[in-house]
Amino acid sequence: MSKEPKLVKSCKPVQETILQLRAERQRVGMVPTMGALHEGHLSLVAAAREQCDFVVVTIFVNPAQFEPGEDLDQYPRVLENDLAQLAQLDVDLVFAPSEKEIYPAGFSTRVDPPASAQPWEGAHRPHHFSGVVTVVSKLFNIIPADVVFFGQKDYQQAMVIQQLVSDLNFPIQIEICPIVRNQDGLALSSRNQYLDPDQRKQATVLSSCLRWAQQRVSEAERSSQVLTQGIREQLREAGVEAVDYVAIVDPVTLVEVAQVDEPAMLLLAAHLGNVRLIDNCRLVPD
Ligand code: AMP
Repeated sequence: MSKEPKLVKSCKPVQETILQLRAERQRVGMVPTMGALHEGHLSLVAAAREQCDFVVVTIFVNPAQFEPGEDLDQYPRVLENDLAQLAQLDVDLVFAPSEKEIYPAGFSTRVDPPASAQPWEGAHRPHHFSGVVTVVSKLFNIIPADVVFFGQKDYQQAMVIQQLVSDLNFPIQIEICPIVRNQDGLALSSRNQYLDPDQRKQATVLSSCLRWAQQRVSEAERSSQVLTQGIREQLREAGVEAVDYVAIVDPVTLVEVAQVDEPAMLLLAAHLGNVRLIDNCRLVPD
């Protein structure tokens, strides 16, 4: 059974619809995306469908979160295909605004992201999180949902948004859903389609490094340096030369930890040709 979701492109009507639903005590879930939907996005939608009465998916390729020279112009835009997939999941409403609707003439406010946005992705993409928290703040106001679903795939983003919600008192609950992977371990990403066949094979080394580190931790290795060095070597051996970072960090502050004595997050970013991939996993000592 499939039901076409209602497609709305302007802010005012969607805000009115959601406020009305909230007044009727319906639980509203939102899944923000940039479209080109894959099973990773759809897992967030399924979680929203399970937990909420009314499910909104937003599709907006946000120019403010791309660095100059990044793939904004090439980013896949496939709205018809996205809508067909969302119809299968019984989504109620899709909000797909134009760039002008979100950033009309005269728009000039930016939200300053929290400290957790500084390292890792923030160090390599200096405007990225300011663009993310600005658009997410707007979406929280345009669609005042009860609960908003994000993926662990973008772990730092999820932590930055949790801090944003806490610091600015957005009356919204954040749910973080697990990473969906291909059978060979590669985390699903809209950018995987740009990998050529050799790079696609090479890309599996990212997730195999994460599994290796989890195994080493379960064998009682605690030194972050030993673990990150081991990963760097494996990446080099697999021909992945351009590594932005390999870091073991506190799960909330994202500050590096020297030892995995408490649960920590392993964060990884590397380039395969022109394609930049990120991945992460939790490291839990016994
Ligand atoms: P994007 O369209 O890339 O902005 O992603 C929209 C949401 O989907 C974000 O919260 C991502 O973290 C999440 N997401 C992307 N890829 C995956 C994946 N492989 N597994 C789970 N969630 C994902």
